[in-house]
Amino acid sequence: MPDITHILEKESLSREDLIRLLSVQNQNERDLIFQKAMEVRAELVGNEIYLRGLIEFSNICEKNCFYCGIRAGNKNVERYCIEEEEVLRCAEYAFENNYGSVVIQSGERTDQEFIEIISNLVQKIKMLSKGKLGITLSCGDQTKETYKRWFDSGAHRYLLRFEASDPELYYKIHPNNKKHFLLNRLNSLQYLKETGYQVGSGMMIGLPGQTIGNLVDDLLMLKTLNVDMVGMGPYIEHKDTPLFESRDQLLPKKERLELSLLTISVLRILMPDINIAAATALDSLVDDGRLQAIRAGANVLMPNLTPLKYRENYFLYENKPYLTEADDLIRKINESDMLNGYKIKLGEWGDSRHFARRVN
Ligand code: SAH
Ligand code: SF4
Repeated sequence: MPDITHILEKESLSREDLIRLLSVQNQNERDLIFQKAMEVRAELVGNEIYLRGLIEFSNICEKNCFYCGIRAGNKNVERYCIEEEEVLRCAEYAFENNYGSVVIQSGERTDQEFIEIISNLVQKIKMLSKGKLGITLSCGDQTKETYKRWFDSGAHRYLLRFEASDPELYYKIHPNNKKHFLLNRLNSLQYLKETGYQVGSGMMIGLPGQTIGNLVDDLLMLKTLNVDMVGMGPYIEHKDTPLFESRDQLLPKKERLELSLLTISVLRILMPDINIAAATALDSLVDDGRLQAIRAGANVLMPNLTPLKYRENYFLYENKPYLTEADDLIRKINESDMLNGYKIKLGEWGDSRHFARRVN
């Protein structure tokens, strides 16, 4: 078996190299990979952590992804859509506390009313912050025209995970119909890029039936797509979803966490200058999951600013840490011994350095 140190010295990593890296079993080899990710990070993106205040705008969704707690078919969810005034108050909070940017995330809707609401929100957030708050959208598959409309309104980053790049696995976790086609997602990522957005994508880690080969292909897909940002995190089961039936195939929590952290480090080595978010789902596995992700190579944190009364209804997966206040999370980061040397960078958009450098 090839030596890990030798692989980590290479200029470019092959599929086999990546499989070897994601398959390490002993702590020694794991530490070598973490160490390398830390070096790469220090050299190319620095030790700053950028904030995006997360606003979970609405849990109304037209789709039926088999893994997600707010899928249209789940009747045990009280649906909400936050009023404009309340969203603006969240944005104001982010602005006053110098977060630098916000993310508006939502269940997927494609009707005209929704398109208008998001467009207005983006414009008003820009206005209230005198153009200073950066805005990321994560509102699912839309048309080219909608992406352009929201971009022209002032959004400049868009997050759209492909979730699983292997069609066979993808259709085990999504219905195989027009609303959910994988090709739509991939086309959307292309449109977003053409429109001028900084583009983020990613996958879930530890899905039932997912192999290390699948995960490596996901990493290679991120590289081929030449994304600027990645949001990837562990899959967490939810009892009101069809995928819950496959829970006996899941890795135990500790191993799922380890695989997620390892994947972050390997991605940092593979795409050194991108932004990598510490996914909230990590905290469903262990209290300090997001902190561990930062140490492993992530450089973006999304403290939740959604008003408390809505949070329990934006329950994508079980054990989602919906009570963690943004302030508490930031305090935890600042006070953590584990994150000595890393610091939250306030007041900046914290754009991906990769975006500034990329030509296509
Ligand atoms: N509707 C939009 C954005 C909201 S969902 C979209 O789908 O793009 C945001 C992310 O939550 C999804 O991309 C998915 O990867 C993640 N998610 C949903 N259910 C999950 C689960 N059970 N475990 C882990 N992540 C999940
Ligand atoms: Fe809707 Fe997104 Fe959940 Fe799929 S993952 S059901 S699109 S909110």
